[in-house]
Amino acid sequence: MCLIPKNFVQKAFYRWLCLNRKNFTHQPRIVLKRKDFFILQFSGIAQQIKCFISKSGAFEIHAEYQKEYWDIIEEFDVFETRTPDGRYYCRLCLPEYKEQFSSRKELWGKHCFEPLLKWTKENFKESYWLFLLHTKGGSTTALIREEEELAVIKNQKDFLTAFPVLK
Ligand SMILES: [Zn+2]
Repeated sequence: MCLIPKNFVQKAFYRWLCLNRKNFTHQPRIVLKRKDFFILQFSGIAQQIKCFISKSGAFEIHAEYQKEYWDIIEEFDVFETRTPDGRYYCRLCLPEYKEQFSSRKELWGKHCFEPLLKWTKENFKESYWLFLLHTKGGSTTALIREEEELAVIKNQKDFLTAFPVLK
């Protein structure tokens, strides 16, 4: 029998968001919900920027363009593991970052939700742009950089398009 509650991650995220909503400059909202994953967008932010969160521990901010998955911008993937005494940690973390938490909720909060909040504060700024590049071979890249780099990146032969992060 599986004791893990259904949609644990979604519930944990909702609860965490209730307590932390005021700290977001741009509100996350769930735009797609499935059994195993959900996707966030942020109000007032370029719609190409999405955050994908899966039950299995994939947690990534990525860019999508014309319905195509473009590239990961940042990720906070978690590989949850339970210790024999009931504590939780992420098996993907390097030994020096491996931290044990008293609950799954705390692991997800500290390992994923809080870093997401921090990332939004650092990247959702007036002067920031989302750059999309693609090579002839078909590989696609997304970057968030300051506006002053626009001229430089626009001159790269792989440059496709750019959007201000703030809509
Ligand atoms: Zn980790």
